[in-house]
Amino acid sequence: TVRVRFAPSPTGMFHVGGARSALQNWIYAKQHHGVFVLRIEDTDAARNRPEWTEGILNALDWIGIERGTYEGPHFQSANADEHRAAAGKLYAAGRAYYCDCTREDVQARTGSQYQGYDGFCRDRGLTAGPGRALRFRTPDDGFTVVVDLIRGEPTWENKLLEDFVIARGDGSPVFLLANVVDDMTMGITHVIRAEEHLPNTPKQQMLWDALGVKPPIWAHVPVVVNEKRQKLSKRRDKVALEAYRDEGYLADTMRNYLMLLGWAPSGNREIVPWSVIEEEFRLEEVNPSPAFFDEKKLRAFNGEYIRALDAAAFSAACQPWLVGTETIPPPPWRPEDFDPAAFAAVAPLAQTRISVLSEIVPNVDFLFVPSPEIDEAAWAKAMKDGAADLLDAAAAAFDALPSWDAESLKAALEAVGAARGLKLGKAQAPVRVAVTGRSVGLPLFESLVVLGKERTLARVEAARV
Ligand code: GLU
Repeated sequence: TVRVRFAPSPTGMFHVGGARSALQNWIYAKQHHGVFVLRIEDTDAARNRPEWTEGILNALDWIGIERGTYEGPHFQSANADEHRAAAGKLYAAGRAYYCDCTREDVQARTGSQYQGYDGFCRDRGLTAGPGRALRFRTPDDGFTVVVDLIRGEPTWENKLLEDFVIARGDGSPVFLLANVVDDMTMGITHVIRAEEHLPNTPKQQMLWDALGVKPPIWAHVPVVVNEKRQKLSKRRDKVALEAYRDEGYLADTMRNYLMLLGWAPSGNREIVPWSVIEEEFRLEEVNPSPAFFDEKKLRAFNGEYIRALDAAAFSAACQPWLVGTETIPPPPWRPEDFDPAAFAAVAPLAQTRISVLSEIVPNVDFLFVPSPEIDEAAWAKAMKDGAADLLDAAAAAFDALPSWDAESLKAALEAVGAARGLKLGKAQAPVRVAVTGRSVGLPLFESLVVLGKERTLARVEAARV
């Protein structure tokens, strides 16, 4: 049976590229009635933290790879004995040798630039000892060919592959070896991982061969790049899955979009139900060239996903921003001033306008704060065209209305504006700023209906002084 694994290192926030690899592994396992294994590669003690592991598990849950539905998590650190045993086996079989050369030593011998290890210790017969690394003896001729579902058969000339280190001077096995031994122990049949690891692959396949186990089939999925075609980096780009979640991207948007990096469903469609992706995705069809992570497109996608929610789901999705969480700041109103009925009345208006859920807050806060904080620039701009007495007139007209509904409010302001030679848009601007504090927002008259007569008039008056 097919056994795939996702093997993140818990050294930082969980990256969107990692989420993409996890999903691809997940779907591949599902399509082949196989098993998805989660392995936490926690052997870099200096950079690991338990909270990063927790973050990975939570993030996977969020995008639909839920705890309890896969094998693991296994922890690489628990397999240290197996890693050392494999190193010992390779040494005993003559496939690896001890070496005490420093980089400087090698450079002094080969001159100029360091071009890989020169094989100096190959036949010196050194035994294990402090400061002696264990190196794998690569073949001098022939080729290493790997089978890659996305890249065909990448091939390396063996003589160009240096004798590489498999255990450090203190005896601890390096990533290349530990990763292979774990895949072997866990019976992994397909290694689906990021392109960044491709240079490791011929070396790792040599280790599989030398340890006498049939190597897996590989699939190196394309590197993810930003709009400048640079590889996404956590220093430069927004890469943490959690950052997208906290800004108000839906899990459905994220996982759908991540699957579109280098692949597309049939019929030129982009937004399709997850079930279609699970059915139609073919790892073999993934384009090997770098995949552009287009944040603008992702945002537009998210808007569409938001609009597709029913009223109850939309309201539920907004909750974290209406109350705040450990990672989402609280809204600007006091909890006791939040009015669910008022929210329900404007939610459909907001739902068609926002692209990320965090935008719900600036759209509805005018309903729940005692008085809006007026944006000075917006105010100055709205009041520019002699609109000063327009507010007084509008307040008087509103006050005189027999019925507080959107139609009547609109007609009243239209008339007040027309008397001053102002189109409705111009006449709305100062009213909007006075009442909401901002120059943009939900449709004005519907907003005033929900805000109510008393508060509307009070705010217009307050703005005038
Ligand atoms: N721990 C490695 C990483 O995070 C995994 C490499 C692999 O998938 O083989 O990149």
